[in-house]
Amino acid sequence: MSLAEIKERIRKAEEAAGREPGSVRLIAVSKMQPEPRVRAVLEEGHRLFGENRVQEAAGKWPSWREEFPGVELHLLGPLQTNKARQAMGLFDAIHSVDRPKLARTLARLADEQGHCPDLFVQVNTGEEPQKAGVLPAEADDFIAEVRRLGLPLIGLMCIPPVNEEPSLHFALLRKIAKRNDLPELSMGMSHDFERAIAQGATHVRVGSGIFGPRDYG
Ligand SMILES: *Cc1c(COP(=O)(O)O)cnc(C)c1O
Repeated sequence: MSLAEIKERIRKAEEAAGREPGSVRLIAVSKMQPEPRVRAVLEEGHRLFGENRVQEAAGKWPSWREEFPGVELHLLGPLQTNKARQAMGLFDAIHSVDRPKLARTLARLADEQGHCPDLFVQVNTGEEPQKAGVLPAEADDFIAEVRRLGLPLIGLMCIPPVNEEPSLHFALLRKIAKRNDLPELSMGMSHDFERAIAQGATHVRVGSGIFGPRDYG
């Protein structure tokens, strides 16, 4: 696959869902990808990228940001509080806010630094014990707490269980966002982004569909 092909599929999915053309943002997930592949996508003009780990992003993106003006970088993976300061310096958005301690740390750092990345609360829609995210039943209270802390919360994120129909999880995320007045929905990956767009995704996170299989060597 390729960037152009994924963009075309997004356009078609927007149209099929009766969504405004261009209303879905494509986050190219560059984690564990060989550098030449990421560079090729930067050279094609794409500027919105996602990474899973603070350390990995810190090793790659500062120099690419210098070389390619306008890069926007989002953190998609879990964030430890002891990496929050570094993450705030590296990322324009964090999709994995999922516990009070992390929210309080981000609020303290935001006060200190006078700025904060855009935030998404991650919801564990499948209630999977090994997965990050607040439980659906706890989402409203946690969202209220993040707002009380004065943080720039803009939306919700989820990663559905691998063996379930993702559309049900996307619909649940949309419902929680709607009743909390949150406009942005980060949902949909390489294998299900069209279904996510049908359910209202505003940010899809596509890695292997753009870059090919990840390099875990
Ligand atoms: C790796 C990852 C993606 C991209 O996955 P693909 O299947 O390669 O598209 C999206 N979101 C999160 C949170 C990820 O960790």
